[in-house]
Amino acid sequence: MKLDVDVLRYLSKDDFRVLTAVEMGMRNHEIVPSDLIDRIASLKHGGTYKVLKNLLKHKLLHHDSSKYDGFRLTYLGYDFLAIKTMVNRGVFTAVGRQIGVGKESDIFEVACEDGTVMAMKLHRLGRTSFRAVKSKRDYLRHRSSYNWLYLSRLAALKEFAFMKALEEHGFPVPNAVDCNRHCVVMSLIQGYPLVQVKQLQNPETVFDTIIGLVVRLAEHGLIHCDFNEFNIMIDDDEKVTMIDFPQMVSVSHRNAQMYFDRDIECIFKFFGKRFNMSFEEQSDDIDGSEVDEDESGRPSFSSITKTAGFLDKELAASGFTRKDQDDIEKKEPTSSCNE
Ligand code: ADP
Ligand code: MG
Repeated sequence: MKLDVDVLRYLSKDDFRVLTAVEMGMRNHEIVPSDLIDRIASLKHGGTYKVLKNLLKHKLLHHDSSKYDGFRLTYLGYDFLAIKTMVNRGVFTAVGRQIGVGKESDIFEVACEDGTVMAMKLHRLGRTSFRAVKSKRDYLRHRSSYNWLYLSRLAALKEFAFMKALEEHGFPVPNAVDCNRHCVVMSLIQGYPLVQVKQLQNPETVFDTIIGLVVRLAEHGLIHCDFNEFNIMIDDDEKVTMIDFPQMVSVSHRNAQMYFDRDIECIFKFFGKRFNMSFEEQSDDIDGSEVDEDESGRPSFSSITKTAGFLDKELAASGFTRKDQDDIEKKEPTSSCNE
């Protein structure tokens, strides 16, 4: 999706006031009636309608008059609200090029006044289902749209909370800078996703580091659930950084073992294929840990000493509640690994 941030400059205070009014109305309306928007925004002299037209022109809103005259936010409208908030907070001053398109996100470079470049991730949960049901019946559209706003916001909050907590426990993750709505700002990782790396100086070392991370995460009570060559970044010194946390689950999740094994399997498969590594002969300890391995060298989930609740304090401090966790865990994590 193109994010034309130039438009931001032309938007007035009133434009944002009306955009925010639509967002507020969407708490309990799929399509927010125009007169409700007008009441919430309470601009003088019926100015709301002119502003609505302008927002519509810039595709920040979608107009729907099938049942009554009303509007809803588009992705772009929601993006602008989050970006505006970040700019107001002084987190960054400019949005640059797009650096990643994930399954459920768009990633952009953003820059501060002093020239520091960071990464901004805009979560787009429910993007596919949202499109798929678009032409279907109203009550479906109703549900999916709610889901999109709510789930994207929740995913961002979860990602931010986990990134911060993991960072505090010494995991190699981007530095979590700020979070608003469906938007997370983090440090920019110099390097490439592992999937783009054709050669490594020390594939064994990198492999051990990565498997060691999965084990250490489990010791901290967590499973990444999408731990694979798309979500591991490698720099020129072959330093590993893990990214992409919205689908993480606790080791007490009912399918924990399956997710753990799947994460491990993705890594084994990838290193086997890409770097011709074979694992049967490997007998040395992974990362010097005391974790048992099966005959193929894969660490066994049951032998890991897991401390659930390890990160609870940090997560709560970021505003991520147990209920949020429950809500988001209703959505089973999917992996991008080719199984
Ligand atoms: P998704 O959840 O949609 O898969 P990711 O967090 O995995 O999103 O990001 C998608 C892509 O964007 C990554 O594969 C990576 O190339 C890039 N990316 C994400 N975060 C960063 C970052 N902090 N620094 C540099 N590149 C990043
Ligand atoms: Mg990803």
